[in-house]
Amino acid sequence: MLYRSIGRKVGKLKMKRKQRIHIAIDGPAGAGKSTVAKHIAERLSILHLDTGAMYRAMALKALRLGIEPGDAEHVLPLLPQTEITVENKNGIQHTYLDGEDVSVLIRTPEVAKGASDIGVIPEVRIKLAESQRQFAQEHDVIMDGREIGSFVLPDAPYKFYVTASAEERARRRLAELREKGLGMDKTLQSLQEEILARDYTDSTRAFAPLVRVPEAVMIDTTDMSIDDAVNEVLRCIIAGE
Ligand code: C5P
Repeated sequence: MLYRSIGRKVGKLKMKRKQRIHIAIDGPAGAGKSTVAKHIAERLSILHLDTGAMYRAMALKALRLGIEPGDAEHVLPLLPQTEITVENKNGIQHTYLDGEDVSVLIRTPEVAKGASDIGVIPEVRIKLAESQRQFAQEHDVIMDGREIGSFVLPDAPYKFYVTASAEERARRRLAELREKGLGMDKTLQSLQEEILARDYTDSTRAFAPLVRVPEAVMIDTTDMSIDDAVNEVLRCIIAGE
């Protein structure tokens, strides 16, 4: 799997040893992980990798072929013939599926559910985690997902678990969808149910589930603005927490 990225030099963050800057942000759907990570990446001049986009791209491939994303028997043969790459353009991640920019197409609720289902298949996770680790070897990065601190980058010096109440997460997802003109049939109630179902799938899967590792700093963004959450994460990084 190839990554193309326009990297920027890290200048501001002081590290005790000469090593790559790796920041892991995990948490449930809609907690604000990606937004916070994107801002932190800008502030620290490092790259942001939204790993959820890769699971979404893989799910889109299956759905387009009429394959149920949770159907391991039919998904496994797709893996060797699938290339998921990301390109970081001016701090914005573009996600490519076999060379096609699918960044917008992967944002529907159907693809989100498919991503959750396809992520249960261990071979899918192993393939995507390998390329995420390779990305981290080559770049200073803040990576957000479900199991970055526990499985993808267990040695990351900075780990956060970003969460919010299910109601607030549903409210944010609804606003996001409306802004993009998507999911017009969704209500707050139906989105909250979908989010809770995804939380359940993510945290109960046998292989690399969503988990808060004990060393991760918990940030509850329910009553926080984005700026507050970003500043809190930065404060912890600078304080070495
Ligand atoms: O973060 P986002 O909502 O885009 O992720 C979509 C789905 O992809 C999640 O519900 C989760 O099931 C799956 N995912 C995952 N591991 C990751 C990132 C996302 O299983 N590291």
